[in-house]
Order: sequence, then C-alpha cells, then structure tokens
Amino acid sequence: MKRKKLIVGNWKMNGLKSDLVHIIDISEHAAAHPNADVALCVPTTLIEAAGKISNYVAIGAQDCHAHNDGAHTGCVSATMVAECGARYVIVGHSERRTDQGESNADVKAKAQAVMARNMCAIVCIGESEDQRNSGNAIAIVIEQLNLSLPDVDNIDGALCIAYEPIWAIGTGRIPNMDEVAEMHLAIRQALIIKYGESAHDIHILYGGSMNGDNAQELLSIAHVDGGLVGGASLRATKFTPVIAAASRA
Ligand code: PEP
Repeated sequence: MKRKKLIVGNWKMNGLKSDLVHIIDISEHAAAHPNADVALCVPTTLIEAAGKISNYVAIGAQDCHAHNDGAHTGCVSATMVAECGARYVIVGHSERRTDQGESNADVKAKAQAVMARNMCAIVCIGESEDQRNSGNAIAIVIEQLNLSLPDVDNIDGALCIAYEPIWAIGTGRIPNMDEVAEMHLAIRQALIIKYGESAHDIHILYGGSMNGDNAQELLSIAHVDGGLVGGASLRATKFTPVIAAASRA
C-alpha cells in the first residue's frame, strides 16, 4: 500500500505567541492538500496553544527527557509534552547531538519514552561532511541508526526516521539524488532486519535544506516518505509548496 507522505516542520528555537498566526496560516494551507500528512514541531512553550488552533496540522515537540519525572532541572518528559497535546517528538536531532552531547544510547532511551506515551518518535540520523567525504557515509549512518533505534515489539505508526546529512542542514546544499536513494534504501533494509515486515510502515524522512524548489524531486525517490523541514517551515509561503509537492507525490 502506498504510504501517504509526511512533512514535518522543525521550528527549532523560533516562535513566540505572536507567531501562532503562522500556525493558523500553515494549517489552513495544509487543509488544501489532504494527500499529505503535516506536523509542526514547535518550541515546548507553544505546544499547547498551537494544538488548539491547528486543525489540519499535528503538533509535536523537538525533544524530551528519557525519564518520566525526577531531578532533571530544565527538562521536560515525554509525558509532559504528551499532556500538552504533542503527537510527535523529534529525538536525536544533530543540533542536540552536537550542542547537548546526546549519544545514540540517549536517543534510543528518548525514543522508547516517546513511543511508550503513544506518540510518534522521529529519530534523526546523519553524517558530517567529513564522514560523507570519507566514502563511508552509509556504514556510519547505519551504525548510528542501529544504536539509536528503540527496542519495541510493535511499531504501529509510532516511529519515523529522519535522515539528515548534517552538512545539508541550513546550508542550501543537498546530496545528489543517487546519494539520497542509496541511503534511504540502506535505512529501509536496516529497519527490516530490526523490525521485520512492519518496517515497511515506517516513514523515512529526508531532512536538510528541503524547500519548494527541490521537494518534488526528493519526494519522488524510493523510500523517501516525507521530509523534515527547518527554515522553510516557518511561514506558509515557503512551507506550502513543500506540502503541495508531498500531496502530489
Ligand atoms: C532541520 O534542522 O531539521 C532541517 C532540516 O533544517 P533546514 O531545513 O533548515 O535545513
């Protein structure tokens, strides 16, 4: 069965209450493209308010702690973001792996916490530019994937993978289509080894400078089941062409 494409916006550390109008705008545009699923991962401070105003866009978080509660000053748990209405949680974004020193084991624990609260974990993986130039990007990314994947018996729509070459994030550069195709195929094969046939239901998103100009081509590649979009997700004018491309794909 053909998977509906999933486009997830990542607002990163952008967005005040005054920006909720853009979520209404994006939601209204998403309504015109029902053949794509759309989510927006907003700052924690906006999750609850965003959920109340976005009828056609699911709201998600950008991180959570692996523990449910306890002495972890400044952190929020999966239970907390779920209570605010989050349906997706990004885990292991390269910015967190770099800035907060998150390990694959941390990412795996977070993904398990997210799935245990009936939300969808979006597990991010990707190689650095040096790793790409070394010629070993596939082996490196698949090892990262295997160490980050949650140990769960049942996927049931609650796991996505986002392949994001670090050097493509926010740079306007993207890998060539063959490189994307071979990486996404390798990821699918690794998922099948880990989860069996249910791995076919897992969305594998491409992330890194996806925009209205390149989305159609990227989304036409086998095993590219959607996109994780940073900069182009902040305004409907830039995000809608990506959603439209996903709806057509
Ligand atoms: C991201 O950070 O997840 C991302 C894909 O960013 P951008 O689209 O801006 O490259």
